[in-house]
Amino acid sequence: MNDLLLNHTFAELQELAKTAGQPAYRARQLMEWMYQQRAASFDELTNLPKRWRETLEQTTLLNPFRSTTTQVSADQTRKYLFELHDGRFIESVCIPMKEHFTLCISTQAGCPLACAFCLTGKQGFFRNLQPGEILGQILAVQRDAATTSRISNIVLMGMGEPLLNYDNVTKAIRLMLAEEGLNFSNRKITLSTAGIVPGMEKLGREDFTINLAVSLNAPNNAIRSQLMPINNTYPLDMLLDACRRYPLQERRRITFEYILVDQVNDAPEHARQVADILQGIRCKINLIPLNANPDSPYKPPSEQTLLAFQEILAHRGYSAFIRASKGADISAACGQLSGKYQERTPD
Ligand code: SAH
Repeated sequence: MNDLLLNHTFAELQELAKTAGQPAYRARQLMEWMYQQRAASFDELTNLPKRWRETLEQTTLLNPFRSTTTQVSADQTRKYLFELHDGRFIESVCIPMKEHFTLCISTQAGCPLACAFCLTGKQGFFRNLQPGEILGQILAVQRDAATTSRISNIVLMGMGEPLLNYDNVTKAIRLMLAEEGLNFSNRKITLSTAGIVPGMEKLGREDFTINLAVSLNAPNNAIRSQLMPINNTYPLDMLLDACRRYPLQERRRITFEYILVDQVNDAPEHARQVADILQGIRCKINLIPLNANPDSPYKPPSEQTLLAFQEILAHRGYSAFIRASKGADISAACGQLSGKYQERTPD
C-alpha cells in the first residue's frame, strides 16, 4: 500500500518536497490542501506542477479510506463507517451538542482489551491505525456538509485503546494541534484510556497537554477485573497512583468514566467505595448507564439506582454527571462500535 500523505508532519513533507527537487513552499501548499481545503483527490491540487502531482499520485495516497458510509440517528447523531485500504472497517461518531459537534474517533481496528460490556472488544484486535487514518476520520467528517466547521471537540474514545497505539496516536494529536495542521486547541481534545499505566506516564511527559479520561467502571479490583481484564495487568491502586501523579494543567481535571451495570457495580456501597478510592484526585465523574448489546448478559440500571449513585458521590463533594449516550438506535453509542459491515461485504 502506498504511503499516506496524512501520516507526515510538516517537517517530513518539507523533506519529501526537497527530495523531489521541489521548492520548500510546496510542503506548505500540501498542508493547505490537506487540512484547510480538505482535498480528497490529487486532481484538486491545482497549484502543484502536474508532473509532481502525478508522481505523488503514483507513490502516495491522499485519502486513507476506500469508502465511507454514513448513518443518521433519530437524535441526529451521525455514524461514519470507513473502509480502510486493506479492507478493514472503523467507525467515527459525530454527536450533536447545543451549538456544535463532538467527534468521537477510533485509534485501532478492533481492540485487544476485551472488556466484557463492549462490542468492539468482542471482535478482537486487527491492527493499529496509522496517524493519517486517525486524522482522516476528522477530515472526512469535516468534509460532510452537515457538520463542516462545527466540530469543536475531538474525543479519542471510539474503537480501540489509544495508549496501545502510542506513537501513531501522539503523532496524530500533534497534527491536530499544529497550526498548519488542524489547529485545534489542546483543551478541545480528550484521550480516553482503559488504564494503560505506562502509556499514561509517557503521555504525562509529552510537550503537549490534552484532556485525559480514564474508564474506571468499577469500585474495586474484583469487579473491575471481571469487567475489564486489563485490570489484572494494571490493577486499581497502580492506576489511581498514575492518576495522582498525572501532571494536570491548572484548573484541569481528570475525567473518570463509570459505566453503571445493573446488579454488578451500581449499589450504594459501590458509590461509597468510588468516593473513597478517588479521594485526593482532582477529577470529575461521568456516570454512563450501560448501553445494552445483543448476546450480552449485562443490563443498564434503573433510573432510580442511577440517581442514587450520583447523589452519594455529590454528597461526598464530587462533580458527578449522568451522561446519556446518543445514537443507540444506529449502534453508535459507547461500546456499540463494531464496524458491522465487515461481515456483510464479501470483499
Ligand atoms: N479504550 C478506551 C477508549 C474506547 S472505550 C477506553 O477504554 O477508555 C470508550 C468508553 O466507552 C469507555 O469509557 C468505555 O468504558 C465505554 N463503553 C464501552 N462499552 C460500553 C457500553 N456497552 N455502554 C456504555 N459505555 C461503554
